[in-house]
Amino acid sequence: MQEREALEFDILFVGAGPANLASAIHLQRLLQRQSLECSIAVIDKGRYTGAHLLSGAILDTRALEEFFPDYREKGCPIEAEVISENIWFLTGKKKFSFPFVPAAFSNEGNQLVSLSRFGAWMAEQADNEGIQLFDNTAASAPYSENGRLTGIITDNKGLDREGNPKANFEPGLLLKAKVIVIGEGSDGSLLRQLAQLFPSEQNAAPQRYGTGVKETWRIPEGGLKQGEVHHIFGYPLSPDTYGGGWIYAFSPTLISIGFVTSIGPSSPVCDPHLNMQRFKQHPLLAEILEGGSLIESGARTITSGGLDSIPPLCGPGFLVTGESAGLVNTQRQKGIHLAMKSGIVAAETLFEALLHDDFSVERLKSYEERFKSSWAYEELHAARNYRKAFDQGLYTGLLNAGLQLKFPGLSIATGIAKNRDEKTKSGAKKLQRFMLEKEGFKPDGILTFSKDQNLYRSGTMHEENQPCHLVIKPEDIAAICLKRCREEFANPCQHFCPASVYEIVTEPQPALKLNPSNCLHCKTCEIADPYGIITWTTPEGGGGPGYKLS
Ligand code: SF4
Repeated sequence: MQEREALEFDILFVGAGPANLASAIHLQRLLQRQSLECSIAVIDKGRYTGAHLLSGAILDTRALEEFFPDYREKGCPIEAEVISENIWFLTGKKKFSFPFVPAAFSNEGNQLVSLSRFGAWMAEQADNEGIQLFDNTAASAPYSENGRLTGIITDNKGLDREGNPKANFEPGLLLKAKVIVIGEGSDGSLLRQLAQLFPSEQNAAPQRYGTGVKETWRIPEGGLKQGEVHHIFGYPLSPDTYGGGWIYAFSPTLISIGFVTSIGPSSPVCDPHLNMQRFKQHPLLAEILEGGSLIESGARTITSGGLDSIPPLCGPGFLVTGESAGLVNTQRQKGIHLAMKSGIVAAETLFEALLHDDFSVERLKSYEERFKSSWAYEELHAARNYRKAFDQGLYTGLLNAGLQLKFPGLSIATGIAKNRDEKTKSGAKKLQRFMLEKEGFKPDGILTFSKDQNLYRSGTMHEENQPCHLVIKPEDIAAICLKRCREEFANPCQHFCPASVYEIVTEPQPALKLNPSNCLHCKTCEIADPYGIITWTTPEGGGGPGYKLS
């Protein structure tokens, strides 16, 4: 067995997103009020806090006000307050404005933020509260004793491509804690391992996902007003694919735009990057962006299964917060406030556990009960059928979503393909159409960009000489990638990955070539892989994107 240095904490948070940072700060403040001292640590795989945080984002400040009422005085980086809002439906060349913004979509009084800047600010506040923050540190594997999670093992540093130690080799640390709080974001790799280690009888519906590609632009003054918000449906997606885009004006000259494409093993033939580029070619976007320049770009998966897909929120020795638990309201297109609320109720549970020196599953279960009694659960409950309504296509979805606004919680029968053959057959035409669109697209380097050009603006970097963190068995490459998948889906990994990590080369012989150092840690590949043969594991901590404005 590998010898490792071990460190012990009372509470360890895995992932420095809004959920866990809110939780750590709130817990520390609760402890301080009772003059209690406990060791609290937060680890994150990014090379600085906020490096991997990517979102729209319109912040509903309800949760922030609850645990951090003085956030404005403490310099919280709010870019703008939402001052006007529109919903658009786009066809190839035309745009149609919705006559009004329904209350359920309205962002009146909400704030525009850059999630990476917001996360960095929260980390600063956590540091000021005496919480220990470790960036460059990935949670690679769980560590359990007597049927309970008691620690995590961090990434090994200094292994070469073949897995042999280099001169700078340092084995991962064993970080132990009384309770570990998992807040890794969408499709977390530690949570996946925990689900195998501690199988639950509580069956949630499979999670749904989309991939969001986001760009931050500098534009000439005059096109948009600070705080202007646009939500967009339609072009370039066909009506059978769920997704949509946004434009948020942080200032008259700095804007966030993005496009989300639903992904999954049943719809692997997609290219979220291409959809984003084609979205910008629509006159609505092209006019706003004319004369501007792209300054940052990135991609990330987003959960959209809502209430039906929430996994168990606690297990022996751990709690699950934020988007790790799929706490996103797809109807309102936001989840940061729900993530922070989960962090707040997790902190209250942890506080009681520390007071009573009781970390049993029974004690930790009160987190689930607390969350179920919160406004966050109520909000998710009201929106529980929104995403499902679009399973029968955009038009039925819009109609059903409209009815749900009148009758919240209205349940609609869905039209998901019943078996894999059905999906494969109906996919042949879709594949043909997709390849035509793909071949017809040529980025101009001004309005539209190639994947490599966008990657350059994501700050992504990895140590090149390290084991590949995308794990596919050699026998699966031979039998599936180079045969079955090639025939059935024409190797969609080459398209759905927004960072050109996957390439099928033909010379000197057909092979799958991986470029793992391009990886944006978006997790699209693990989710959209139609055969379930790709496993995303953590590379050396510090690798991945370096978002600053996203
Ligand atoms: Fe995203 Fe990396 Fe997978 Fe590409 S290889 S889809 S960038 S996680």
